[in-house]
Amino acid sequence: MEKENNIMPIYSYLQQKTPELLQLLQESVNHDSPSRDKAHGDRMADWFARQFVRLTGGKVERVKNPTYGDQLRCAVGNGDKQILILGHYDTVWPLGEVSRRPFSVKDRKAYGPGVYDMKAGVLQAIFALHALQQLDRLPADKRIVLLLNSDEEIGSPTSRQLIEEEAMRSAAAFVLEPPAEPGGALKTWRKGSARYTLTVKGVSAHSGVDHQKGISAIEELAYQIAALQALTDYSRGTTVNVGVIKGGIGANVIADHAEAEIDVRFMSMAEAKRIEEHIVHLSPVLKGTRLDVQGGIRRPPMEKTEQTSALFALAHAIMREEWGESLDEAGTGGVSDGNFAAACGVPTLDGLGARGGYAHSPNEFVYLDDIPKRAALLACLLERC
Ligand SMILES: [Zn+2]
Repeated sequence: MEKENNIMPIYSYLQQKTPELLQLLQESVNHDSPSRDKAHGDRMADWFARQFVRLTGGKVERVKNPTYGDQLRCAVGNGDKQILILGHYDTVWPLGEVSRRPFSVKDRKAYGPGVYDMKAGVLQAIFALHALQQLDRLPADKRIVLLLNSDEEIGSPTSRQLIEEEAMRSAAAFVLEPPAEPGGALKTWRKGSARYTLTVKGVSAHSGVDHQKGISAIEELAYQIAALQALTDYSRGTTVNVGVIKGGIGANVIADHAEAEIDVRFMSMAEAKRIEEHIVHLSPVLKGTRLDVQGGIRRPPMEKTEQTSALFALAHAIMREEWGESLDEAGTGGVSDGNFAAACGVPTLDGLGARGGYAHSPNEFVYLDDIPKRAALLACLLERC
């Protein structure tokens, strides 16, 4: 390792800066930012844009959004080699959550709505860029783009295109979602997801008077559910879950309507298409019923490639050489914006956010002592990748 690439000056700088980062973490957590609330989202975007410019000297371009909070394209550096960092400022928490349980610190852990998913992760990235700038370590050939979106927690409907456009221009993408615990493993793959609604039409009748005249949509749905669940194949990493069923209007009525919501997770697009073929071609078991399927693939899988492995190897080497610590890689059935970036063919490393636990739960927290180290790891990756 060349001396000038040593991470320790970055790490000690970030350790000095941790109190300031925590102050900003408190401010950002104490700001409700539910995905579907444009006014609060916009104010959160204002706040992050201000901090980014102040700390990195970079530029922020605001991408107007008529539906949810505006998206932010934050950039430093003027090089030709673009590196993308993906973060989101929305949380799963409703308006008023902050007043119920504001930011707090206990036993070297910070708590509060969205602290772990992912306000701490976004601040780590801003401070990583701040450190690179202050220590004059930002490589001249690079331009780092931090994309902050407002609607990740509801599937990124208004930001997906922007993410894909920036991914297409980038040599690598880093995602600020939390790592896998215990151990803080980075995520090198994620399954993709699809969602379907299966509707069954039958024939209604009085169950006491005319039982034989009815054709039960509920009975038909039951057969279909058994067939759908059986598509699960753990050896391929494929899961099918009928998660919601509805149907019928009373116990003495043969139901003419029933429906099911289906979630599918898969490791590859080929597998996604194989399962979709099954689902769209389901055929009725009971004569006289009709099936209709709506829906499709929502997020492509983040497939692990050789380039992803090389990025991970770099992160692993940094942890080993600089701190003598090992770093694991992991994968998950949960999706993130990393899925969209990876599907554009960009090597994508996810899980570069804050360490902690209990995402999407009132117990969510981050470990304060890991913040400067994870920020330094990201800074070093940005410098060397
Ligand atoms: Zn998240």
